[in-house]
Amino acid sequence: MKRVDKKEALELLKLPLSELGRLAFERKRELHPDKITTFVVDRNINYTNVCWVDCKFCAFYRHKKDESAYILSFEEIGRKIEELIDIGGTQVLFQGGVHPNLKIEWYEELVEWISKHYPTITIHGFSAIEIDYIAKISKISTKEVLERLQSKGLYSIPGAGAEILSDSVRDIIAPKKLDADKWIEVHENAHNIGMKSTATMMFGTVEKDDDIIEHWERIRSLQDRTGGFRAFILWSFQNQNTALKAEFPDIKKQSSNRYLKLLALSRLFLDNFKNIQSSWVTQGSHIGQLALMFGANDLGSTMMEENVVAAAGMAHRMSQDEMIRLIRDIGEIPAKRDTAYNILEFYK
Ligand code: SF4
Repeated sequence: MKRVDKKEALELLKLPLSELGRLAFERKRELHPDKITTFVVDRNINYTNVCWVDCKFCAFYRHKKDESAYILSFEEIGRKIEELIDIGGTQVLFQGGVHPNLKIEWYEELVEWISKHYPTITIHGFSAIEIDYIAKISKISTKEVLERLQSKGLYSIPGAGAEILSDSVRDIIAPKKLDADKWIEVHENAHNIGMKSTATMMFGTVEKDDDIIEHWERIRSLQDRTGGFRAFILWSFQNQNTALKAEFPDIKKQSSNRYLKLLALSRLFLDNFKNIQSSWVTQGSHIGQLALMFGANDLGSTMMEENVVAAAGMAHRMSQDEMIRLIRDIGEIPAKRDTAYNILEFYK
């Protein structure tokens, strides 16, 4: 398939959803001819909600002195992991706010403690902004942070914090957050030490279509250099309880049409990404299912616990049985996978 360039992408976006969806579905079938749709059983653990970054689109964070500020103890984290193991889970997605005081030693101890006590659990955690700040406060490089956490058992890093990789957008919605170059650099560093990651994008704030294409160009080009992204995940801004909604009251909730069009176009543009996840957490289970007809090949995670999107007013839930049912319903074969997309179990 010929690579889609920026001009073509903008033209493709003008197509009706049905046509764009058909192209994306054809591409998905080329990459995934076996009709298998995967999912992972995991749990988000937000180890702290304390954060100094103050992203305007975020309703989750608290400042250190706020009454509802917390840091989970290792014992509390352990209890959550045990509940996950009880339902057959394999992965924890560790993400926090960016706590102003936690240094590399705290993270090393945490990762080592989990690896030792729960060896069957894969630790997928700490987004680029967390890694970048741990490096700053510990006075070491981001590469050293990644190497030290990898040696304690960190397996891969999530793509969170990418939002839109265009500084003109980031300067408005998250001015204190790391810039686009730094986000790319952290992921490139991870890939270069053999640590995989995922790439994400949050749309629906103040970005233009050009910014979205710029985002895709940046991650496609890093994927060309390293091949280190396992998947791409796209979600829409959830506006309740956010400073951004107060500052820009005209920002509207994104339509399902827009979500599915961008998802389909991402399948065509990101020609070097094998896996694209559907975001049922922000779109709901039925649009999440439809996304499988528009380029997605993975239903993401059962997400036993989710706090960040829920804080912004969206609280969809989906059990493993429901995922299996929705996948079968569109004529595909459900399969539970691990973090590396190896199949663990089929549900024929
Ligand atoms: S999105 Fe993350 S970095 Fe930004 S304020 Fe929320 S918790 Fe902090």
